[in-house]
Amino acid sequence: MKTTKTATLTESSEHILRARQPLLICHSAPDGDAIGSTTGLARALRQSGRSPILACVDPVPTEYLFLAEVESFLSVVDMPFDLVITLDCSDLSRAGRLTETPGFDTVPLINIDHHITNLHFGDINLVSVEAASTAEVVLALLDAMHLPVDVGTANCLLTGILTDTRGLRTSNVTIEVVESALRLMKTGASLTTIIQNTLERRSTAALRLWGAALSRMKLDHGIIWATIPAQVRRAVHYSGNGDAGLASFLLSSDQANIAAVLVERDDQYVEVGFRAVPGHDVAAVALELGGGGHTLAAGCTVPGPLEDAEARVINLLKSSLASHS
Ligand code: 5GP
Ligand code: MN
Repeated sequence: MKTTKTATLTESSEHILRARQPLLICHSAPDGDAIGSTTGLARALRQSGRSPILACVDPVPTEYLFLAEVESFLSVVDMPFDLVITLDCSDLSRAGRLTETPGFDTVPLINIDHHITNLHFGDINLVSVEAASTAEVVLALLDAMHLPVDVGTANCLLTGILTDTRGLRTSNVTIEVVESALRLMKTGASLTTIIQNTLERRSTAALRLWGAALSRMKLDHGIIWATIPAQVRRAVHYSGNGDAGLASFLLSSDQANIAAVLVERDDQYVEVGFRAVPGHDVAAVALELGGGGHTLAAGCTVPGPLEDAEARVINLLKSSLASHS
C-alpha cells in the first residue's frame, strides 16, 4: 500500500480497534470481492473478540457459500452497532436500503473501496485505486491493525482478488497484487478451491442466458453489445445477478474495444455492465449514467424500457469513443 494511504490506514485502524460491534455492509448484487472483503474483515475482527454484523440487501450467491462467515449475512439489521464500514461500494446507494437502518447516521462511517469513481462519502475514506480488489485494501488494514490472517480469512481475501481480476488476468494486476495473492496462498488459501468454485463454475441457466444473448449480439464501430429482455431471462430460468460475466466474454471479440450487456430487471430498470480494452475508458460513461466502477470495467442501473436504455447507452458510448479518438 502506497505511503499516501498510511495516515488513512492508521486512522481507520484506530477507529475499528475501538469498535465492539461494527456493521459491515457490502454492495447489492454482491460479487466475489464484495463477499470476500466483507467476510475476510469480519472473520479477523471476530477472532479478535469483536462482534461484527455482516449485511447485504441481496443474498450471497451460491458459489461463495464455501467461505467463512457467509452464514452471518443479514439483509435487515435491527441490533445496535458502533461503527459502519462499507466495502466495495463506490457510492452509498450501493448499500441499498441498509442506509435506512436506525442509528446509521449516528455513528462514524469508514468507506473501504478501490473504485476510481468512489465518491468519498465516508467520514474516513480508505480508497485505494491502485488495488485490483477491495480485498487487498482489507489485507493492508488487517496488517495495520496487527490482526492475524488465518487460512479462513486468507481464503476470503484471495477470493476477492481472484474474482475481481478474473484469475489475475486483468490489466490492473501488478506485482503487488500477485504478491498479495502469493502471501494468502502461503497462509494456506486454496487457489484451486477458489477457482473451481467461482471462475470455473456457473449455472447451466447462465450458459443458456449466454446462448440467448449471443444470438442477439450487435457490433458497431468497435462497440459490441447485447440486450437481455426480462422475458428471455425468465425463459432460461436465470435467477443470478447481472450478466453472468458475459460482457468480459463479448470483449474478447477481435473487433471490439468496448463491450456492454444490458439486462432488463423485473422492475423495468436495466442493469448495464461495461468492459473496455486498455486505452479506452468506460468508468466515465458509467458515472455519467449514475453508476461507477473502474476505467476498464464499470456498470450502472438505468430506467427502462430496454430499447430506450439501449439507445441511450450506445449513443453515449459512441460519443465517448468519438471524443477520445
Ligand atoms: P460488473 O459488470 O462485474 O457487474 O461490474 C463491473 C464494475 O462496475 C464493478 O467494479 C462494479 O462494482 C461496478 N458496477 C456495476 N454496476 C454498478 C452500478 O449500478 N453502480 C455502480 N456505482 N457501480 C457498478
Ligand atoms: Mn471490487
